[in-house]
Amino acid sequence: MDGFFRDHPLSLGEQSGDLLIHVANHEPSTDDIDLHTARIRQEKSVHPAVIVAIGGGSSMDVGKAVANLLTNGGRAEAYQGWDLVAKPGIYKIGIPTLSGTGAETSRTCVMLNRQKNLKLGMNSEHTIFDALILDPDLTVTVPRHQYFYTGVDSYIHCIESLHGRHRHALADAFSRQCLNLCQEVFLSDDMMSPHGREQLMVASYLGGCAIANSYVGVVHPLSAGLSIVLDLPHCLANCVVMDKMDAFYPEETAFFQRMCRKQGIEIPQGVCAGLDDEAFHRLYLSSIIHEKPLINALGPDYRDVLTEEKVGALFRRM
Ligand code: ZN
Repeated sequence: MDGFFRDHPLSLGEQSGDLLIHVANHEPSTDDIDLHTARIRQEKSVHPAVIVAIGGGSSMDVGKAVANLLTNGGRAEAYQGWDLVAKPGIYKIGIPTLSGTGAETSRTCVMLNRQKNLKLGMNSEHTIFDALILDPDLTVTVPRHQYFYTGVDSYIHCIESLHGRHRHALADAFSRQCLNLCQEVFLSDDMMSPHGREQLMVASYLGGCAIANSYVGVVHPLSAGLSIVLDLPHCLANCVVMDKMDAFYPEETAFFQRMCRKQGIEIPQGVCAGLDDEAFHRLYLSSIIHEKPLINALGPDYRDVLTEEKVGALFRRM
């Protein structure tokens, strides 16, 4: 459960004999997953019957990763990649309390690995939740700016998918409907109205389905660089990148800025100001490492387009 609920009535489950773990609401690292898994093994002599993940994208991802690691053994970093999880995880239920990341539907659970400059999840059929409870009333207390940053993750997933080379009718249909809902929510007068929260929760679900069947593009790899080097949370980092994507997604960048203006959301500027050459080199390395989305967006010769100089210039504008 998200640490946000530490003193909340939802945390009363602790008294029922269930093991309740509050997770920090920052991006989980492979070390975090190893620690949570070790704690469950220590406190329970048998595998749990079910894992219930309650919270935002990070809590969803921790639930999925721990469920897989419990049955597959070893350390979390061994499963960072595609289809490395051999056995099904523990039965897992997702209850999102924030909309946008699509973590409730995606087939991955993103983990930071600072030793390897790598932000990558366990992309696997076994990472998908067995059941979901989607209740938009759970998002009523989300701060406005966080609601926006996170919700826009859905928008970004879908524009990246629709501009990729890995397109097909199913992913496109999920993406298009998700974008319709995002547009309705973020161009409305009150993005957090009961109707808006309901629409955004569905958009998040559909965006997750889109990305589970395709790949992201240029935004997510650069955003991963910001998360690795500057510790920026995923959704805020996405917005910082999306704001400067005019060379890759001109219309979508303009539309993103229109949604920001309509909702009165300011995107932070100058986040890379004052960084030294070594930091820019790490930003480049931790972005360019994401081959699959970058090939999806730019083709197999993506390194010729995203040279270190070009990537550095992009980050210097952020
Ligand atoms: Zn995302």
